[in-house]
Amino acid sequence: MALINCTECNFEVSDKASACPRCGNPLMLNDKNDTTTLIEQTSKKLKLQRIYGAAAFISGILLAIGVNTILGIVVGVSGLIWMAVIDALVWWKHK
Ligand SMILES: [Zn+2]
Repeated sequence: MALINCTECNFEVSDKASACPRCGNPLMLNDKNDTTTLIEQTSKKLKLQRIYGAAAFISGILLAIGVNTILGIVVGVSGLIWMAVIDALVWWKHK
């Protein structure tokens, strides 16, 4: 933890604080860092979800060949739709 000076009143504020305790000036640097961290965490979650979608798609193909064609197609198409939804979410978060 470090101390930074408030841009409005020059009061020493913790860099973890979202606003100056003396004058209430929002500390934009911290807001920006928090947002960046949030986007990175969200991206990791979405990438994991995309892997689940790909796994469902591959499982669907294997099911269609080996077990039940209709069930395999349903699972495979669900996986494809799931991946498309995740791609749309990633695009939306990063636009
Ligand atoms: Zn201040």
